[in-house]
Order: sequence, then structure tokens, then C-alpha cells
Amino acid sequence: MKTGKLYVLSGPSGVGKGTLREHALKDAPNLRYSISCTTRKPREGETDGVEYRFISREKFTEDIAQGLFLEYAHVHEDYYGTLKADVMNELESGHDVLLEIDVQGALQVKEKMPGAVMIFVAPPSIDVLEHRLRGRGTEAAGSLSVRLSNAMKELALKDEYDYVIVNDDLDAACDELRKIVL
Ligand code: ADP
Ligand code: 5GP
Repeated sequence: MKTGKLYVLSGPSGVGKGTLREHALKDAPNLRYSISCTTRKPREGETDGVEYRFISREKFTEDIAQGLFLEYAHVHEDYYGTLKADVMNELESGHDVLLEIDVQGALQVKEKMPGAVMIFVAPPSIDVLEHRLRGRGTEAAGSLSVRLSNAMKELALKDEYDYVIVNDDLDAACDELRKIVL
């Protein structure tokens, strides 16, 4: 059986990665989403095992020590990581896999899995990004400013990626992603 392809989607918080990912998963039937582990607390409406596996710092540290992560990073104020076994099982069974991870994790994947297709989602401007992040209404003021200041550092690394999608008009951005994953 043909091994699947790995797609890595990154970009600043609030740029629209989750929105684009939902569309891509509907458009590409062979594409699977890898559910990450995080030490962040669930937001209202989030369910363990659906958006993330919500685990303690202790468990996260144990999993690092056991070498279970394909990549992991300290993002904003918490740890996030992708389990190696999840990704490998899906790829070996012929499914394509989409990771939605931050730039630090993406660079780890790029090094370990050179065949991965790297996609960066950029905002049309920082003002638009702030507006979207505020509009989503999920972050407290402190967390919002951390996310915005990290956005600048993340944007500086976009040249490491194979594709940059500017998420201005949502339909156009979805089309671009669809063309890449299909
Ligand atoms: P991320 O997963 O990158 O943090 P989200 O997908 O949660 O971002 O999007 C952040 C907010 O911006 C959401 O409220 C979403 O509905 C909105 N959004 C996403 N893409 C667009 C777009 N192209 N135009 C306007 N709003 C958008
Ligand atoms: P949020 O807290 O908004 O869900 O996610 C915050 C950031 O963590 C986003 O940039 C998201 O892409 C990133 N992230 C989510 N899962 C992972 C992961 O498994 N590894 C890494 N490195 N980053 C992740």
C-alpha cells in the first residue's frame, strides 16, 4: 500500500488555521487530522480527545522522556505536541495526515520528515489578525497580547515553508489549500 503524505499547517494564532483545516478535511476524504496533546486547559465547548488530548504537565514530561512525540513545543504559555505513533499509523495505512502546529514544532517535523509538505497561513495584516483574535473571544487580555507578540516571531519564519497562503478572503484561501492537499 502507498504511504500517505504528511501536511504541516502553521501560522499565528487567530489567522484561521482551524477554519481552513475544517474545510480541508471535508474536501479531502483521504486526509486525517492528528489530534495533539496539550497542557492548556480546555476552552468552553472543547472536549478531551476531540480538539486536543488535554493532559497534565507531569504526563507531558513523562511522554517527552519516553520519546513519544514526533515534535513538541512550548507555545504561548503551554506545551503542545504530536504523538509519533498516531502519525505513523495513519501514514502507513495510506492516509494523508494534517498537522496543525506552531512554527517551532513545524521546523522539527521538517527536519525529521523531509517529505512533509509545509504550509504557512499568513494574515493580510497584523490589524486584521488582532481583530480576528478578539472576535473569536476565547482569550483573556494577557493571553491575547502574548499571542500577538508571538505572531511577529512566527511570521518571520514563513520562508521556511513550501507554500504561504494569505487568509484574506476565506473562500480563496480554502481553494488554495484544497489545491495543495488534493
Ligand atoms: P486559528 O485556528 O489560526 O487560531 P481560527 O480558525 O480560530 O484561527 O480563526 C480565528 C477567527 O477568525 C475565527 O473567529 C474565524 O471564524 C475567523 N476567520 C477565519 N478566517 C477568516 C477570514 N478569511 N475572514 C474573516 N474571518 C476569518
Ligand atoms: P490554541 O491554544 O489556540 O489551540 O493553539 C495555540 C498554538 O499551538 C497554535 O499555533 C497551534 O497551531 C499550536 N499547536 C497545536 N497543537 C500543536 C502541536 O501538537 N505541536 C505544536 N508544536 N504546536 C501545536
